[in-house]
Amino acid sequence: MKDCLFCKIAVKELPSKIQYEDADIIAFDDINPKAEIHILIVPKKHIESVMTLEKEDIQLIGKLIYTAKNIAAKKGLKGYKLLFNVGRSGGQLVDHLHLHLLGGQGLKGMI
Ligand code: AMP
Ligand code: ZN
Repeated sequence: MKDCLFCKIAVKELPSKIQYEDADIIAFDDINPKAEIHILIVPKKHIESVMTLEKEDIQLIGKLIYTAKNIAAKKGLKGYKLLFNVGRSGGQLVDHLHLHLLGGQGLKGMI
């Protein structure tokens, strides 16, 4: 999608520190980490938000969570948080669906 930050990252028009990639998903370091490990797991398909999910996306969303689990295991994380911000009032700033994986130092006190 034109003028979408994460679509541009997905096609490498913009740089990112890629942690994982396959045909459907790209995962990269958050540019402004809120914890020691903060990775965004992003479908390459432009979906705006959890709020605009369609039934056909169910498998893709399952794959996002499965990918988060695999990245967390690879990083040796014993515990972590997975977070979707949904809509502006839910804290979503980038209108391309993404799953936050937060781990390591800095999780305490976070919801
Ligand atoms: P959200 O508030 O859920 O929409 O999260 C957007 C996240 O994207 C924030 O944690 C930002 O730090 C992160 N972010 C913004 N621009 C970039 C970028 N160019 N590369 C990596 N992460 C980014
Ligand atoms: Zn997009």
